[in-house]
Amino acid sequence: MGKVLLTGGSGFIAAHVIDILLEHGFETVVTVRSEDKGRRILEAHPNTPKEKLSYVIVEDVAAEGAFDEAVKSNPPFDYVLHTASPFHFNVQDPVKDFLDPAIKGTTGVLKAVKAHAPSVKRVVITSSFASIINAKKHPSVYTEKEWNPITWEEAMDHSNVYRASKTFAEKAAWDFVKNEKPNFDIATINPPLVLGPIVHYLNSLEAINTSNKRIRDMIQGTTKEKLPPTGTFIWVDVRDVALAHVRAIEVPEAGGQRFFVTAGHFSNKDLADIIRETYPDLESKLPPKDSPSDIPADIYGIDNSKSVNVLGLNYRSLKNSVADTVKSLLAVGA
Ligand code: NDP
Repeated sequence: MGKVLLTGGSGFIAAHVIDILLEHGFETVVTVRSEDKGRRILEAHPNTPKEKLSYVIVEDVAAEGAFDEAVKSNPPFDYVLHTASPFHFNVQDPVKDFLDPAIKGTTGVLKAVKAHAPSVKRVVITSSFASIINAKKHPSVYTEKEWNPITWEEAMDHSNVYRASKTFAEKAAWDFVKNEKPNFDIATINPPLVLGPIVHYLNSLEAINTSNKRIRDMIQGTTKEKLPPTGTFIWVDVRDVALAHVRAIEVPEAGGQRFFVTAGHFSNKDLADIIRETYPDLESKLPPKDSPSDIPADIYGIDNSKSVNVLGLNYRSLKNSVADTVKSLLAVGA
């Protein structure tokens, strides 16, 4: 047990991390960008005493010294979980919108912990499969050993910048530990597409998190005419990603490691077929039943054994994840 600072508390993944931290007995302080977002988190946990859950404001993770005050606490923090990073496809300025908040946000947390929070033993960073994937030359099996070879120049292409932001941010974190030799260690959680139930107090259908949009679009009939391309063919449930973050502070051997957390392959056709089976009333909204799957026959393999062996993850099935996601979306009016 101990006390945890969780950045980006208003996010899709972070909302589930909060629940697991509280269940496991951690005192939890989240950073949010506004009072309003902080208040909504507290209101969603009416039975949690305020010494167990509270918030501090960090308006912009990219600002110099953004975390200097947030990491100071009494009693002091034992762990930091850094999830805050932009994830959307509305790119205006690649550097300002993505690269700065991802990279400076990550190094800013690490610098602040080193300078002002000597009690912190570990910082867990939400990285991504984006920093593992080699889109130009997939290996036969992906493991934690792979790194996305993307360059700064390639990052200026708007379609690449999210993946680049995650790659450079994670590299900067490992470099920080190597060069600065702080008193804490780090671990990274590297999920691919994260599906799973949304928490109702944070999400409207318009503001839904990026990775669940394809399910919202299917059940609202937006993709009725044509099944959209899948993109990345691997996925994981948000509750397993959240548990991975908490296990990464609970399990001593997780220090110094990357964790590729994925439940397996999927395609958008699988999502549509599961919705068809579990919510037959939605049939008329779904992409055509005979749409072919776009998953390549020679799709790369994946090895998630480290997350199973070290963190003890037991991955949820796609059917369970999609059914629960649809249920949560219908509950907010989809
Ligand atoms: P969300 O968009 O729901 O959460 C992102 C969080 O980061 C929000 O709390 C957001 O605050 C905060 N944030 C973004 N930019 C800033 C900034 N400049 N200053 C302060 N806070 C900021 O997305 P997810 O929950 O899906 O993502 C969480 C993490 O997981 C990210 O690091 C993302 O890269 C990573 N990830 C997500 C995957 C997915 O499929 N969902 C896959 C792999 C990795 P606000 O709500 O106020 O905007």
